[in-house]
Amino acid sequence: MTPFASVNFGRRLEALPGEMLRRVRPQPLPDPYAIAINRPLARELGIDPDSLLLPDALAVLAGNRVPDGAQPLATCYSGHQFGQYVPQLGDGRALLLGDTPWRGERAEWQLKGAGMTPFSRMGDGRAVLRSSVREYLCSEAMHGLGIPTTRALALVGSPERVMREMPETAAVVTRIAESFLRFGHFEVAYHRGMTDATRALAAFLIEHHYPECRDREEPVLALFERIVERTAGLMAAWQSVGFCHGVMNTDNMSLLGLTLDYGPFGFLDDFDAGHICNHSDHSGRYAFGEQPRVALWNLYCLGSAFLPLASEAALVGVLERYSAMFETEWLARLRQKLGWRGEETGDVALIEALFALLQEGRADYTLFFRTLADVDEPGGADRLAGLFATGADIGGWLEAWRRRAASDGRGMDERKRAMHGVNPRFVLRNHLAELAIRAARDEGNFAPIARLAECLARPFDEQPENSDLAGRPPEWAREISVSCSS
Ligand code: AMP
Ligand code: MG
Ligand code: MG
Repeated sequence: MTPFASVNFGRRLEALPGEMLRRVRPQPLPDPYAIAINRPLARELGIDPDSLLLPDALAVLAGNRVPDGAQPLATCYSGHQFGQYVPQLGDGRALLLGDTPWRGERAEWQLKGAGMTPFSRMGDGRAVLRSSVREYLCSEAMHGLGIPTTRALALVGSPERVMREMPETAAVVTRIAESFLRFGHFEVAYHRGMTDATRALAAFLIEHHYPECRDREEPVLALFERIVERTAGLMAAWQSVGFCHGVMNTDNMSLLGLTLDYGPFGFLDDFDAGHICNHSDHSGRYAFGEQPRVALWNLYCLGSAFLPLASEAALVGVLERYSAMFETEWLARLRQKLGWRGEETGDVALIEALFALLQEGRADYTLFFRTLADVDEPGGADRLAGLFATGADIGGWLEAWRRRAASDGRGMDERKRAMHGVNPRFVLRNHLAELAIRAARDEGNFAPIARLAECLARPFDEQPENSDLAGRPPEWAREISVSCSS
């Protein structure tokens, strides 16, 4: 394991055109303290986790010291916010330190909240403790669920005051991803008529992230198709675990199909397709059930930005396949969640009937699937029925589910194991994040963050010692309100 002090940061992003990049210096924060360190991820990166806690490392993670050889950068992107094109959005508060080896590829390191950049607009370049804890925990929760995401290596706080709706304190998340490039990077190049930059971005993506497109007849079209596929896959993954992103503007859409920008996200508790997790989203544009459609809308924006490099008919042809890509992935995931092997003609109707029941009975989405796996244990059917509000009768559906399940010849134990393997017992419910935030903010107690992170790293395991983290939210959790950038 290398100590952090000897990490050599590469500068591969500098291959992008100069107008997309600006050199930046992080703005120092007073008295930084470590809130959380992601030890398994540090090890994956070949870094001794303990060395991240040394004062020199902490200084880097707080933006107080630039590591030798690194030349921090902010990139320029634009995007559609709530349907409106905004010519310049970011990176307003994230800077790239550089890239290091990871899983046979390269990991890019970003500091989020390390101060202003030339793209900060009216913002202060800072992130607050509350939203940083949420980003740290949810990145790792998504990873634990097997969903593509940016990662979080470290969370550092400082007593520096930051003004939001009320005064809060600053924090910096060190984020890791193969790439943080977004739809908005193509959009800014397109809308400013920088065709060379569009070409360079596509070439960069193909070279580093989509090598399979290199030898295709039309590499750029193949690249677009792969991005569409990954986005469809990501939407199927989000919908299957009840993850609501909350602010699916095009600048928050990853070109690698990663979950990106953890702001006002939320996991569904009681099922509601119309659930809106972002209190600034008055029209419900980004409601849970809208996400797959919004992703397609966003892909149309990306497709427009590809127009200098590919024919409109070909791009539209790819976009027209999105819905089938999504459906295929979604159905495959749902069949797995329901413990069904193979495909049968009645499956779609049964799945639709289930969602109508979940909606009517407002059953807890996570608990429903986990309880269904255990339905044949003593009291199982009652526990399942108990998740539904009176009036929604699950009995008839359950009989049909049993018949369908029995038809694949798998024993109940085997099915139960398979279902436990895809239906998490633990997700980052809002109230869990909120309790961890309160302990950190009010008592300087970071143990709840560490405990949650460990639990959510293996969300499919039973973990009886963490039963208190598996239940429905308490009544007070209804008061939690989350909005965009904070
Ligand atoms: P978001 O709604 O989180 O996607 O934010 C949109 C963009 O605004 C981000 O990409 C940032 O570049 C920028 N931004 C958000 N918060 C701040 C801040 N406190 N200071 C500077 N820029 C910010
Ligand atoms: Mg953003
Ligand atoms: Mg954000």
